[in-house]
Amino acid sequence: MKTKLQAILIKQSQYSESSLILQFFSLQQGTISVIAKGIRKKSEKQQLLPLCEYELLAYEPKEQGLWLFSEANITRNFSVYPGSATWAAAETGLELISHLIIPQEDIATIYNLTITYLEYLKKVKNNAILIFWRFLNRITILSGIGNPLSNCCICNNVISLPAAYLKSKGGFVCENCLPEIYPNDALLILSPPARKILLLLPEIGNHLEEITLNRSIVNEINTAFALYWQAHHKQTLHLKGLSVLAQFYNA
Ligand SMILES: [Zn+2]
Repeated sequence: MKTKLQAILIKQSQYSESSLILQFFSLQQGTISVIAKGIRKKSEKQQLLPLCEYELLAYEPKEQGLWLFSEANITRNFSVYPGSATWAAAETGLELISHLIIPQEDIATIYNLTITYLEYLKKVKNNAILIFWRFLNRITILSGIGNPLSNCCICNNVISLPAAYLKSKGGFVCENCLPEIYPNDALLILSPPARKILLLLPEIGNHLEEITLNRSIVNEINTAFALYWQAHHKQTLHLKGLSVLAQFYNA
């Protein structure tokens, strides 16, 4: 049976000379893979654009497997951004989505958050990675492992300023507790700019122009989020897009 889906194209990969495998994030079914037979032989107008939202018509597989593409009409275009770093942030956001196992009841929330993220990025000229981190933090919360930035992993108080990440406890440490911890390999002390970014993260959209980033700050924050994800989901979060994004900043 043909099903109508509202779906964002995450990526397309070559299947044969004429066919593609399309990975979509759909509002109704979450992430699905669709085989589009013969699509590469069709006109340029009929080719699909990654990051865009489509009204997708496809045939549902009988068991687990590939959906069969019928047609797609673009509903929202998220393929154009003010710069390549912003485009990379959009793509990395979808790469993050492609790694999630989303329970049916959470699909709509995450879908709408993703649309909001892509829409927001259209206006972001500089430092789009800051918006990516805000998205990553929201997805981390929605993935069921709590808000890494809410409470100190030592004193459990609400964190006023995240000062470090403590691997052995799997959490961030507040300013007050940091002096009590003997520095060791498990302690990742954050630089002042990284602390400020994490503090401002919920409202980071208001601070895009005033923050100056470099690659070491980018790596600190990427590492802290990745460690938190790994500690609580018991699996690594390896996003290729993050190393691309880091390259936009000087070492
Ligand atoms: Zn504390």
